[in-house]
Amino acid sequence: MADKNTNKVMDKLVSLAKRRGFIFQSSEIYGGINSCYDYGPLGVEMKKNIKELWWKSMVYERDDIEGLDASILMHPKVWEASGHMAGFSDPLVDCKVCKSRFRADQIDLEKPCPVCGNRDSFTEIRQFNLMFKTFMGPVEDSAHVVFLRPETAQGIYVNFHNVREAARRKLPFGIAQIGKAFRNEITPGNFIFRTREFEQMEMQYFVKPGEDEKWFEYWKEKRMQWYQRLGLQKDKLRFHEHAPDELAHYAKAAFDIEYEFPFGWNEIEGIHNRTDFDLSRHQEFSGKDLRYFDDQTKERFIPYIIETSIGCDRTLLTCLVDAYTEEEERVVLKLSPAIAPIKAAVLPLVKRDGMPEIAKKIVDEIRGDYRIFYDEAGSIGRRYRRMDEAGTPFCITVDSQTLEDKTVTVRERDTMAQERVHINEIKTYLDEKLKA
Ligand code: ATP
Repeated sequence: MADKNTNKVMDKLVSLAKRRGFIFQSSEIYGGINSCYDYGPLGVEMKKNIKELWWKSMVYERDDIEGLDASILMHPKVWEASGHMAGFSDPLVDCKVCKSRFRADQIDLEKPCPVCGNRDSFTEIRQFNLMFKTFMGPVEDSAHVVFLRPETAQGIYVNFHNVREAARRKLPFGIAQIGKAFRNEITPGNFIFRTREFEQMEMQYFVKPGEDEKWFEYWKEKRMQWYQRLGLQKDKLRFHEHAPDELAHYAKAAFDIEYEFPFGWNEIEGIHNRTDFDLSRHQEFSGKDLRYFDDQTKERFIPYIIETSIGCDRTLLTCLVDAYTEEEERVVLKLSPAIAPIKAAVLPLVKRDGMPEIAKKIVDEIRGDYRIFYDEAGSIGRRYRRMDEAGTPFCITVDSQTLEDKTVTVRERDTMAQERVHINEIKTYLDEKLKA
């Protein structure tokens, strides 16, 4: 349970996220809608950077993974085959006195209600399916029900043969996808940690049965390493192995990667050995042969799947929490330059002597590859503080020395160290420092 101190950190982060334009409450002018959020100018950049870093490491830097972008609405049979219709539910209880709603697996039902303190006040446990329903076409009857996908993975499974054939792939190979998923969560919360609409970055790796354990270990390590590239503190990350009673119906083995949030250790990514469950089920429900033909051994079999599944929004929250630092005179987001929304700010020291003109020229010369920000309003100290809160790794200041020798001051965000760089070398300097 969150204590006052952890709430304070989260409150401050939520307020900074709004103030600087990372994240806003959805439909705020109408009083907001629970657990839905909008990404502002900085948030959208940061989210894009996280997705690009993931895509780069999963697709561009490898030669065994293809990309996919499947549609959100799928044939309803997909969800029967996947087990979501029957089993994608959370146990729900209400307190009869204060009407608070809980996930029965997250509280102790023997104890008093955590909100009002009354004893024996819980209703019976009810199973609540988390899939959002809607109707396809104008007729709202049971024959036209479709679901908003609760995970992106199924879009990958049903396209297994399409991708394999089009990309002429042999096992082992993977399919990566980034996209929205929707879950009608009973208890959303902790800002963007658990929302009802979110984005996932999933990769499904198809392997020969018998080689699954080796690949599972491989992906566990690979995925943990990725968080170093995001710049997260190592001691805030750990694995959590699912005990046999925690394992999902489809999984032979599962590990979560957890991060220590102000509200405790929580999952940010799941790595699952899904066996041949998914393709077997889709083969059964679709009547299509989803086996793989191994032309060396002349065998036909259903591949096993190793899944890596991570939430993009949850990762963004993790990066914000990890980067949030209060120092004596400033609040600074020590984000990895690779994911920082604004890579550099260009600041004329004063609004005269031709400094703004030189600064704008620099902006024109270096913009194009990444987000650059120009700011001439307020004292230089205030402008530095604003950029510290936005997590901008470099501030480039045009000052009186620039007029003499064409060098600028480059200030590094975390150390506040300053060095002089020639105007003609700024682009190379930034390219070097911003390499992911
Ligand atoms: P939880 O136990 O937290 O409900 P889960 O085990 O159901 O999560 P998965 O189905 O494995 O989660 O989803 C993979 C990843 O998708 C999670 O690690 C998380 O990063 C993200 N995710 C899942 N549900 C949500 C949500 N409601 N809001 C934001 N991200 C989510």
